[in-house]
Amino acid sequence: MNEELGNINESFRRALCELIEVCEEQRINIHTLYKVVANKKVAPMIRGVGNEYDVFDLLRLQGIGVRKDEEKDTDLYIMLKNRTELKGEVKQGKKDSLRITSEGVYVKIKCMRSRTSGEKRSKQRAAILNIDPALYKVHSDQYRTTNFDIVLANIENTYINLELDDAEREFLELIGADKDRKAVWYWASSKDLISTSKHRCCQRRNCDKNCGFIPHYPEIFFKKGTVNPELPWKRVFAKRPIT
Ligand SMILES: [Zn+2]
Repeated sequence: MNEELGNINESFRRALCELIEVCEEQRINIHTLYKVVANKKVAPMIRGVGNEYDVFDLLRLQGIGVRKDEEKDTDLYIMLKNRTELKGEVKQGKKDSLRITSEGVYVKIKCMRSRTSGEKRSKQRAAILNIDPALYKVHSDQYRTTNFDIVLANIENTYINLELDDAEREFLELIGADKDRKAVWYWASSKDLISTSKHRCCQRRNCDKNCGFIPHYPEIFFKKGTVNPELPWKRVFAKRPIT
């Protein structure tokens, strides 16, 4: 590391200068910052917010029109060729959820709000959505298609803390996750994630499964031996070769 610091590149030097400035402004001790970042409660939050900037840069590098509006709840806006904008939500995988079966590989995406709404807010939101307030209340930490158009999900969280066995390592190598972090991004339309009685099911008790809310942990499934997931999920930049 010390050798690298001897000839750090310009972008790293700029990032370091920004970091020093932010630490001064926010009264954060830069000498102990690495211990704070390593904290098990802090690291996932930093990774989560960092993911929003990572996918923003990835999309921009691919020539996709993308913008952020720090004032709004929406993580990012994606501009389509016909000038319409998609609301994008950036999510992480559910911790340690990578699961391999004889059919293939499953990973879960954490797709829920961190806070539930109170009684008054629930009633207001139910009125806006024109649904029964009681139905809204039991789903108040869940999303509907009105919240965003697409979800962009990074699956690193599903395996980075696991002690990987051979099959898991083989899968990550297959999708390129060990070499190219771009390969671990997937996306789906919110309309393809909502609960229906036939496919994806909302896990709430007293729900008829046709509620129109997105389940807490939608699953991405890769058929055994395949690089790309089954629909409705798609790999971001699927047209690019992985290596
Ligand atoms: Zn439901």
